Amino acid sequence: KTFTKEEIKQIVVDENVEFIRVTFTDVLGAIKNVEVPTSQLDKVLDNNLMFDGSSIEGFVRINESDMYLYPDLSTFMIFPWATDGHGGKVARLIADIYTADREPFAGDPRHALRSVLADAREAGFTAFNVGTEPEFFLFKLDEKGNPTTELNDKGGYFDLAPLDMGENVRREIVLTLEKMGFEIEAAHHEVAEGQHEVDFKYASALEAADNIQTFKLVVKTIARKNGYYATFMPKPVAGINGSGMHTNMSLFTKDGNAFVDTSDEMGLSKTAYNFLGGILEHATAFTALANPTVNSYKRLTPGFEAPVYVAWSASNRSPMVRVPASRGNSTRLELRSVDPTANPYTALAAILASGLDGIKRELEPLASVDKNIYLMDEVEREKAGITDLPDTLLAAVRELAADDVVRSAIGEHIADKFIEAKKIEYTSYRQFVSEWETDSYLENY
Ligand code: GLN
Ligand code: MG
Ligand code: MG
Ligand code: MG
Repeated sequence: KTFTKEEIKQIVVDENVEFIRVTFTDVLGAIKNVEVPTSQLDKVLDNNLMFDGSSIEGFVRINESDMYLYPDLSTFMIFPWATDGHGGKVARLIADIYTADREPFAGDPRHALRSVLADAREAGFTAFNVGTEPEFFLFKLDEKGNPTTELNDKGGYFDLAPLDMGENVRREIVLTLEKMGFEIEAAHHEVAEGQHEVDFKYASALEAADNIQTFKLVVKTIARKNGYYATFMPKPVAGINGSGMHTNMSLFTKDGNAFVDTSDEMGLSKTAYNFLGGILEHATAFTALANPTVNSYKRLTPGFEAPVYVAWSASNRSPMVRVPASRGNSTRLELRSVDPTANPYTALAAILASGLDGIKRELEPLASVDKNIYLMDEVEREKAGITDLPDTLLAAVRELAADDVVRSAIGEHIADKFIEAKKIEYTSYRQFVSEWETDSYLENY
């Protein structure tokens, strides 16, 4: 749904909205916002709201820091939760970032995704549809309201209350999201204790990325209201499953789903196979964006339903890409490596650019792997052409730096800032000595 300026002004009056949050996402995936009283609404709607970008991660130097926020009117939404006596309702608008010269800002992740979507349109695709399955953990809060490392329940996959104590929180999350216009397809307890999943309807990529950011905000807000802390950290607890964000994707043309070909034995078109070929080709490079934290690589280990190898399958869930059973317009590829710490804009830009490169170069995917890859040894994997995903953030960042297609998908500005920030993050991690190390080495050496 899109709104005109006049409609937004009317809604703001009718609904007693007192504040407008204009939000955007920084290079590292954090949501930022400028909140203004509705007296400033005209300025916001006329693209005249300025902010200082110099202190935002991955943005600009001090001397060129004045930026404009251009709100995307289709993202207007009123937050349904109460402000507890701190004024009337709060609405938000997601913005694109423009420079002082009123050019799209090269450091804006949303702009990076828009650019790759323009490439897709040029290649004849009318939409890149994306449906994600973000997982998260609920931890208890202590008396002071700080997060603990105590999980909210001992439930498992699809368990029901009373084992699943998250049920009420999850319901409130679902109801809140519905009030905000999300169509919720499923919500369930995940495999690990304290772990949950809420699936919302697919959307075209830009909206899907916006939705992921909104979703995280809602989950965290509602969890806290209920005395829990929600985290999208990929592997908060060692020894149990981590949290992924399976990403289901399809390309559409004016004639419908371009991944469909009923004459193929798997029902997939040449476009689908070539897209998949591109995904496999660039997987090691886009991993830094799909799995951007040190902790992400603790999830991508064998035995926890997360992928470790670059491979695909129709029937088995261990590979990185799976072809879900649904056909017709729902024909899609499911990328299972992504985790919810990914900046959805840059990750989707990189993934789409990889697939488009596969289509352009007519890359054929290697043969599908229909047995459990975790049970194959290294020699068998090598024979099947199966390579490893990067095993650390540093390895992933090096792969990203070496891949022109993925780097140019996010643009050199973002690529440089991202790589620099992630190298610092990795060094900082390396300087820390963990309990595992003292346990393993202290007495042995
Ligand atoms: N939690 C698993 C992961 O890390 C996925 C489990 C599932 O959804 N089947 O990706
Ligand atoms: Mg799922
Ligand atoms: Mg799941
Ligand atoms: Mg899935």
